[in-house]
Amino acid sequence: MNLVLMGPPGAGKGTQGEILSKRLGINTISTGVMLRTAIKEQTEIGKSVEKLINAGQLVPDDVMVELIKERLQKPDCANGFILDGFPRTTAQAEALTDSGVKIDKVLSLEVDDEKIVERLSSRRECSKCGAPYNVISNKPENEGKCDKCGGELIQRADDNLDTIKNRLNIYHEQTEPIKEYYKKAGLLVTAKGEERFEDTTRNVAKALGLEV
Ligand code: AMP
Repeated sequence: MNLVLMGPPGAGKGTQGEILSKRLGINTISTGVMLRTAIKEQTEIGKSVEKLINAGQLVPDDVMVELIKERLQKPDCANGFILDGFPRTTAQAEALTDSGVKIDKVLSLEVDDEKIVERLSSRRECSKCGAPYNVISNKPENEGKCDKCGGELIQRADDNLDTIKNRLNIYHEQTEPIKEYYKKAGLLVTAKGEERFEDTTRNVAKALGLEV
């Protein structure tokens, strides 16, 4: 299955992507994780996108399209993949179609803006492997430490109030129109993002026609 996960920042794409990845036996490709890794390692791309990301702006389409095309050619994507964070503009969605990558389903996680602001301020992620946590709804077993790799949990630089509002505006203006693009292609399904991630997981399974 080649799946695209959509939804505003903090809708639960990272968490549900991880769960689906285990269940379906395919990798999640998160452009946000790829870019943050590039920043951490101070690669050329990392240096060029750092300011944009910390301000909650989008990275230019041509940079993203090249990055994802290269990534999807790697052998671990041969049996399927889950895209988290790409495409984020209609131009990116069109470029993906034009590159011949076949998408089977696009799942949009639906969460109200007020909930998003609340959630993003309690969100954390592993500084080593990028696994997602939330200090209210998805706590690690040991405070401040990743369950998977023991890495330190940190708050993202772009999870502050001004940047969160900016990212939400950009989502509504530039990313949400993609829903219409995929709806026309008959690929769009939606699931409500709930307070408890387990409830969202159930909605996601139903939307994708998986056993609940
Ligand atoms: P995310 O982890 O998906 O919230 O992404 C974090 C940030 O990375 C976004 O706010 C953007 O600045 C950048 N980014 C990630 N994916 C894309 C994309 N497909 N197009 C443009 N910018 C992106």
